Amino acid sequence: MECISNQELEQLIDEVRPYSQYGKLVDYIPALKEENSEDLSVSIFHVNGTFFYAGDYLKKFTLQSISKVITLALVLIQNGEEAVFERVGMEPTGDPFNSIAKLETLKPAKPLNPMINAGALAVTNMIQGKDVDEKWDRLLSFVRELVNDDQVSYNERVAKSEYDTANLNRALCYFMKQHEVIEGNIEDLLFLYTKQCAIEMNCSDLARIGAVFAANGVDPVTGRVLIPSHIARICKTFMVTCGMYNASGEFAIKVGIPAKSGVSGGIMGAVPHKCGIGIFGPALDEKGNSVAGVKLLEKMSQIYGWSIF
Ligand code: GLN
Repeated sequence: MECISNQELEQLIDEVRPYSQYGKLVDYIPALKEENSEDLSVSIFHVNGTFFYAGDYLKKFTLQSISKVITLALVLIQNGEEAVFERVGMEPTGDPFNSIAKLETLKPAKPLNPMINAGALAVTNMIQGKDVDEKWDRLLSFVRELVNDDQVSYNERVAKSEYDTANLNRALCYFMKQHEVIEGNIEDLLFLYTKQCAIEMNCSDLARIGAVFAANGVDPVTGRVLIPSHIARICKTFMVTCGMYNASGEFAIKVGIPAKSGVSGGIMGAVPHKCGIGIFGPALDEKGNSVAGVKLLEKMSQIYGWSIF
């Protein structure tokens, strides 16, 4: 079954909105504490080009960890699988996304996967370009292609707020530099990474990116190949095994689609061959996933028969 109207989605978000009261806004990035915890918006972008939305679907939010999937795709395109997986692994962790624990106990000290912060920092470190500006331009152009909108940009205030307070990520970087997983200037890397996490869009834009992944890397509207299909497949697999952090197992059982969340409250979903989904609901559960957003996905997956399992 497919979603066929905005009213249908409006009704679903009214049903799940009350769940927001069980979550709270992220607190370690000061600028994100100012969001409204009751906000909820959703968009579904079908691979045939039709799309639906509900809630304040024009409200912009920053991608945070959702950006990790996009950077991974770019870095795989630029460097190839072998080079990338020399520095970052393919296994899920049962730990929180910002944990440093496994880096110390695993030999060699290679981050377990590209969806946790350590792995994502190692991936961002592999973006090609002669300096930070050129790397940033490449990443932003790629995001703009995926959304098909050259106005997409980043939120400077959120980027600065994270950069100024990112001491845990700094620690991860210095640890990895010591173990030769990453190289170069750490402040430059953090500057780039926090800008990447602060890339801003609305849920319809995010659903469109999800639809590109759902369509194996093909832009559903223009038919252009934006991501080679084997790379889109790798990204979707990471979304299934690690995309919802240490709640990925439960999410696979209850929802069963490739998805990636961010601490801003965003979630991007990709239902293979069917549609992309963009959600924004900033009240988070204790693992850092949008409470109402996950509930909404559970309901939609049941109604529309999305589970891939
Ligand atoms: N920018 C955030 C960080 O690195 C992203 C984390 C997240 O969304 N889980 O801490």
